[in-house]
Order: sequence, then C-alpha cells, then structure tokens
Amino acid sequence: MLEDEIEYYIKAGKAVKYAKAKVKDLVKANTRLIDICEKVEQTIRNLGCKPAFPCNICINEIAAHYTPPAKSTKHIREGSLVKVDIGAHYNGFIADSAITLNVNSEHEELTTAVEEALENAIKILEPNIRIAKISGTIEKTIKYYGFKPIINLAGHQLGQYKVHTGKIIPNIKSFRDIFNRLEPGNAYAIEPFATTKNGAGEVIGKRGGHIYHLTQNTPPKETAAKNLYLEIKRKYKTLPFTKRWFKDKIGNPKFEKAFKYLQDKKYIKEYPAMIEAKGEPVAQAEHTVIITKKEVIVIT
Ligand code: MN
Ligand code: MN
Repeated sequence: MLEDEIEYYIKAGKAVKYAKAKVKDLVKANTRLIDICEKVEQTIRNLGCKPAFPCNICINEIAAHYTPPAKSTKHIREGSLVKVDIGAHYNGFIADSAITLNVNSEHEELTTAVEEALENAIKILEPNIRIAKISGTIEKTIKYYGFKPIINLAGHQLGQYKVHTGKIIPNIKSFRDIFNRLEPGNAYAIEPFATTKNGAGEVIGKRGGHIYHLTQNTPPKETAAKNLYLEIKRKYKTLPFTKRWFKDKIGNPKFEKAFKYLQDKKYIKEYPAMIEAKGEPVAQAEHTVIITKKEVIVIT
C-alpha cells in the first residue's frame, strides 16, 4: 500500500469518526431518521471527503441497507435498537464503520456483545492472520453472551471505489477459511452482527431500502436516461447512492421518468434491505482497518 493511500484511508477514517461522534448525540426518541442521515453525510463533506454510501440507519429487526427516502417522516421511537452505518471516501479510499445505539430498549447486552466481539477480533489482528481465527473469535464472543451471530452478513475487503471486494470475513467460523488469510496492503471492514437466541441468526432481503447502484458499464441510448446514467457514473462511480441525493430534481417528472427507465431496464438496482428472518432485533459493530506488512491500523 502506497504512503498516499494510507493517508487517504486515514483522512476518510477521520471523517467517519467525527460523524459517529455526532450520531451519538443525535440518536434519541422523536428524531427524524432523515435529519440524522443528512447531518452525517454533511459532516463527511465538510471534512473534505464524500459519503462512500448513503448513511444507513436500521432499526430493530432491520439489520442493514436502509436509508430514509426524501421527505421521509420516519423517526426514532422509544425502546429501539438503532444501527447507524457510515462510509466516507477520499479519492475512492473508503472507511466503513457502524455503531448501535440503544434508545431505552431491553437489548443493551446485544450491543455489548457485538462491541466486545469486534474488540476481540481487532486485538488478534496481524498481517496474514487466518480469516477462520477472526470469525471464530467473533462467534465465540457473541455465543458467550447467549446470542446468535448473523450467518449471512459478513466483514469484507474494501477496494478503491468498491465497498465490497475480495475477501469475506464471516461472523461464524468456517472450515473453508482455515487457509484463507488477510494479506497486507489491503483495507478490511470487520463487522459482527448478532441477534437474540429467539432469532433465526439469518437475514432475508426485502425491497425498499432506497439504496441503489449502477449495474452496467455503458449507458442506454434514450437521451434523458443516458444523461442521468452518466451523471450517476461521474458522481458515484461504482459506489452505492440514493435518490435523496438528487435534491433539486426529486418530483421533477423528467427526472422521475429517467430514474424509472434506468430501474426498469436494470441499469440501476436497489440493494435489498436485510431483515432478521424471525423479526428479532439485531445489533452491529464495525471498524475498518488497514493491514500493512508491519502493522494494523484501525482507521475508524
Ligand atoms: Mn458498514
Ligand atoms: Mn461494511
């Protein structure tokens, strides 16, 4: 990894850290989700970075991939478990981190379990560590609390303008990963998810998370759709985006028609929101680390 790249990662990490600190004060009963997300995204921009994906805010059984749409009136209710997942990038180098905040729900321990699982995983990191060792540590910590790790959500390698690429770091030990290692020169996100003992320990996808990505390399021929496609590609490249970011255009019939065209023709796709299969609450903790030949740096 080049010196410059390390600097970019650290800069992105700093923006995420600031945004996370803000979130801790913002997340309380009656706050609107959209206000939290917009403040997070603005904080990232104010620090000279860009959001690497729309701020995710997922409550209770919603585990991942939800951001409120424009004009959403959804707000935080008393007694909920709120996960905020934040991404920033500088020149495409991404920091990805999440926290769970407990707004007076009875699931405080679920949050403690994932935080401790993340902490234990980070403690053992070293260049070329076996992935199975990390997954085993996460699984053991979560189970020690009597909870279930989510088997189909995982940590991941990050690449330039790519939130998910290369290696996957499961939250349950897999014997396939015994010889699979985290090589130096890369960035990795480690993200334990846990649910209660009554949960399925698994998430299922549902529509309506409002987070999209471009799926094709070339634009359509139709002019308005082509222009929108090119605008998305220029602004977000291969990164996830949301409609809410097209502030001045929302409701404009031309824009809505072009967006729908891109969706119908599968130029853009919505990520499914991930919901706990038995509707049990989910907690998440996440940090991004960079692993060089000599050291491990937690950037978030
Ligand atoms: Mn994340
Ligand atoms: Mn992640």
